[in-house]
Amino acid sequence: MNFLSSGTILNDDFVWDVISNHILNRHRGTGGAAFNMNCPMCITLGQTPDKTYRCGVFHTANGIGVNCFNCQFKTGYKVGNRIGRTMAMFLDRIGVPDREVKLLKRQALQLASFKETVVRVQPEFHIPNFDVVTMPSDSQSLEAWDAADCQDQNYLDVVRYILTRGDVAAMATTYYWSPNPEHGLNRKLLIPCWYEDRLVGWIGRCIDPSKRKYYNQIPKHFLFNSKCLNHPHRKYIFIVEGVFDALVIDGVAALGSNFNQHQISWIKQCDKIPIVIPDRDEAGKGLINIALQQEWAVAFPNYGGRCWWNADIKDVDEAVLRHGKLFTVRSIIESMTNNSALITQRSHYHL
Ligand SMILES: [Zn+2]
Repeated sequence: MNFLSSGTILNDDFVWDVISNHILNRHRGTGGAAFNMNCPMCITLGQTPDKTYRCGVFHTANGIGVNCFNCQFKTGYKVGNRIGRTMAMFLDRIGVPDREVKLLKRQALQLASFKETVVRVQPEFHIPNFDVVTMPSDSQSLEAWDAADCQDQNYLDVVRYILTRGDVAAMATTYYWSPNPEHGLNRKLLIPCWYEDRLVGWIGRCIDPSKRKYYNQIPKHFLFNSKCLNHPHRKYIFIVEGVFDALVIDGVAALGSNFNQHQISWIKQCDKIPIVIPDRDEAGKGLINIALQQEWAVAFPNYGGRCWWNADIKDVDEAVLRHGKLFTVRSIIESMTNNSALITQRSHYHL
């Protein structure tokens, strides 16, 4: 049981190694999962066999998480804890031989006995050094175009578009417009992406109904509106999906895809309480998965008997437009929960 040999780092990834080696039929992970698999527990828990890879397997610095969206099976292993009954069952179902499960249990137990003496080595995270960029050519702020009395129909349409999104959205940042038709820029509302006081990217939101809503230049690992992470008087951090959601509630968004490990570490560095406010769609479930793994709170303002939002509202952006910012903030704080069973249950809404 030589786990600690003179100052070297412990190999505490043995559970992950076994799981990873046993599951060959897997899909790329969504919502922070290392990978998704066909759930081995669905049948046991009275569901039809999972054929759509609804079970996510998570691998973090602190251990493993398993979470099925179909049968709601959930288990995990935390470094320094024992391997519990549900994890042992999961290992059995994915075909880990009994003998090997016993060995893993013993290893976990030995590791647990070192719990107090082991200093966990966390990978240190540094915020990327984002390069400074410029806004697209010929672009100016909407105010500057207005001062120049621009009568271009495309510009007027862009102004009309932002006004339909409500006062809060309209006032949230300085928007830009470019008359350049390349990539349809002249039909897009341009939103600058700041990191501290540097422009490091921009988002082009198409104002027409279109398959491709966005044309962007965003650096890797960027967190939209990260300035709210450093707000001196805030207790909470709102974690949302879209750029407008982030703008209207002063939260952070990963934009487009899910939050990756860098972005999650970035959020965790700030000493505030994260609250995830998921959209009511598949992408929202990805965000819920991340919350479950990180033990972040999730808000469900339109769940159950006390619905804060009108039933047809799907995201924060719409809620603020319909109910106002203060009411929406209150609805989030009053409806948030840290209880993972409640979070899983409440994410089972019908779309
Ligand atoms: Zn399942």
